[in-house]
Order: sequence, then C-alpha cells, then structure tokens
Amino acid sequence: MNYPEPQLPQSPPPAERTAVIDLAAIRHNVRHLSHVVSPARVMAVVKADAYGHGAVQTAQAALEAGAAWLGVAHISEALELRAAGITAPVLAWLHTQDTAFAEAIRANVDVGVSGWDLDAVVTAARELEMPARVHLKIDTGLGRNGCPEDLWEAFVGRALSYQEEGLLRVVGIFSHFAVADEPHRPETDEQLQKFRVAVAVAEDAGVDREVRHIANTPGALSRPDAHFDLVRIGLGMYGLSPFAGQTPAELGLQPAMTLKTTISACKEVPAGQGVSYGFTYRTSEPTTLALVPLGYADGVPRVATGGPVQVDGQVYPVVGRIAMDQMVVDLGRTGLAGTPQTLVGREAVLFGGAGYPGVDEWASAAGSINYEIITRISGRVARTYVDSAAEAEAGVDSPPIALEAAGDAGQPTETAQAVQAL
Ligand SMILES: *Cc1c(COP(=O)(O)O)cnc(C)c1O
Repeated sequence: MNYPEPQLPQSPPPAERTAVIDLAAIRHNVRHLSHVVSPARVMAVVKADAYGHGAVQTAQAALEAGAAWLGVAHISEALELRAAGITAPVLAWLHTQDTAFAEAIRANVDVGVSGWDLDAVVTAARELEMPARVHLKIDTGLGRNGCPEDLWEAFVGRALSYQEEGLLRVVGIFSHFAVADEPHRPETDEQLQKFRVAVAVAEDAGVDREVRHIANTPGALSRPDAHFDLVRIGLGMYGLSPFAGQTPAELGLQPAMTLKTTISACKEVPAGQGVSYGFTYRTSEPTTLALVPLGYADGVPRVATGGPVQVDGQVYPVVGRIAMDQMVVDLGRTGLAGTPQTLVGREAVLFGGAGYPGVDEWASAAGSINYEIITRISGRVARTYVDSAAEAEAGVDSPPIALEAAGDAGQPTETAQAVQAL
C-alpha cells in the first residue's frame, strides 16, 4: 500500500494551547494609567514581545488608547515595531557594541545612552550624516547602566557639544527605580533627589529636553512626585499588580492574558497511584486524574507544582512534577460531574482575569514574580487576540454585563465571556 504525499493543512488548525490576549483590557489599562499620571504621558513598554503578549498588537492597542511613546530594551525590538509600520516615538535603552545604531538612526528610533554608547551613536550619525535622537541616562542608584553621578556633568557636556555639531538631539533625561515596588523604602526618595539634581545640572548646562522620565509601573502608581513628563509602563498595562499586597482589581487593572488549553486525558485511579516523574505525589484514595497538556516547554515553571488550574469553575492544584509538555491535576472528591470520558476536552485555565486564578498564584507557586510568568510563556503557545469591548458592543454571544460586575469573583466578565466565545 502506498501512502499519499504528506500535505500541509490549508488553514492553521485551531490552537490547542493558547494565551488569549484581550486587547480591550490593554486599552483599558493604558487609559486608566494615563488618567492616574496625567498630565504626564505614558510610554508603553513592549520589550520582550510585550511581556509575552505580542509586541506589535500590544503597541497598536496602547497607542489607540493614548500612549504617546513606546519603550523597548533593544534596538532590534524597536526595528520590529518600525517594520510593522508603527511610527510613534520609540526608545531603546540596552545596547552592546554590536548594536545596530545606524539602523536606529535611520528608523527614527530614540536611543538611551549611558556612557560609551553615546560615542557609538555619534559615530553612526557622522557616517550617515543624520542626527541621532538620544535620552541621557543617569544612574541614580540601581547600579546597572546609566552614567555615574560623578561623571554626569562631563557626560552632559559631551552630548551638548555633539548636539552643537549637529550629530544628535538630546530628547530626554531618564533613570530607573530599584525598589519602587516597596513603597515604604527610603531609597526611592534618594533616587528621586539624585534625579532632580541631574536634571538641574543638565538644564543649567543648556540641555533643552522634551521629556524627563524615571517611573516604571510601581513608581507611577505609588509616587505622584515621580511622574515628571513621561512614565514607562510595562506590567500595569498587562493588567498585573507590581505590589505584593495589592490585586490588579484593587489598582483598577484588568489582566490581559488568559492561559488555557483543554484536558487531554482523564482516568480513574486507585489509592497509591504515583503521578509523574519521581513519584513525588501518590493518590491517597481512589480519585480521578486529569492531564493538562502544558509544561515547562510552554513556559510553565517546572517548580510550580501546586499551581492552580480551573476546570468548570473549580480550581485544582497541579500534583506531582510538571514535565516538559504536561502536568496532572487531581480532581479528587470535589470532582466534576461526568465520567472520565466526558471530562476530556473540558477547558482548563491556568490563569486569567476576574473569575480565574491569577498570574500571582502561579508566581508564588514558582517562587517568582508575575513579570516572569507571563514573559516566559513560550512560542509553542499560540497567541489569540480578542477584543472584549468590541465583542460586547457587537453583542457577540454575550448578554450585556455591566462593567461593575467585573470585580465579582465567579461572575463572568466581559473578558471571560469573550474568551469563552472563542
Ligand atoms: C522594563 C522596564 C520598564 C517597565 O517596568 P514595569 O515595572 O513593567 O512597568 C521601565 N523602564 C525600564 C528601563 C525597564 O527596563
């Protein structure tokens, strides 16, 4: 017997594992944070593929909602935004000697500079005969890049002489906080004071900057005196809280990512059944185990045993080791109605917005932070985009739900409904 030639599918098959990104939540968060920091403007930080949410889609949603700038770590990330046709101001602040500064200048990408990179940018500008747009960075205490305080005046002087030569324009002065997520700590005051001094030194030397910026999400939310002209917002735009004791809802934020799949196998087992590698878990009584086809290759941390998985409104902890591709939940006596056969195919949600487990629960199961959980969801997980506001307006499959209901646990939110409607 001959097998037919293998053929590629005509259209992409449906996503079996997906991170659903709600663009309406991103827009809501940008609007909310813009209001909080007004009259300062929002720079939407979309580095690391927008913390796993998709850089281009997130940037477009953020700009629609009023973000004035975009921020990324690498010039290569900024160039991807330009290649997608995004023309808004973009700043990139982390470079190596292999960084394509000339490409940045050509693409009108602003470059954050801290020391040697000022001269590298100027070399590229000289060759291109095009001025660079730079933001001068002062290290106010974080100890990463940024010009040390004692070299700041000379650094500013060098930038100004390049500016007089027509090789660059100093667009901004900036710095970065170290402990703004712990608002009681005094070091933020010290950083702010050093920043004010650095700005004054630059202005006295003749810098006529457009923007001063130092605050990240925690700084923007906890320090109105740190807003200056621009705040660089990452985590908050994705709807997560930077503070240990505060939920997204308490901050007026809506989580934008829902990570979900469906149960791929389910079976009844006796007491004493070992579960997953190493047998770190054994069932204590007869129970039902469900297999969730997400693992560490999908970005779910291997150490996060105990993390929550929601099936049919009920939350079950992961038992045993999380493997590369899969993990197991014990449906136990609280189990779902139905036989193992009918449970296959049920939706399994690891985290999402209101009514679902939070990213923070996975962060604590992993001994990490919410930033890391969302950012590391891997490329094997399809990103699916929904727009809960548009769908609600169009009445797609969802009865009208007042926005006030969004905080009620157990009440399906607009987001949840849009997700279910997929
Ligand atoms: C990542 C980053 C931000 C965004 O921080 P969030 O806490 O996510 O808001 C801001 N500024 C710089 C320099 C960053 O590297």
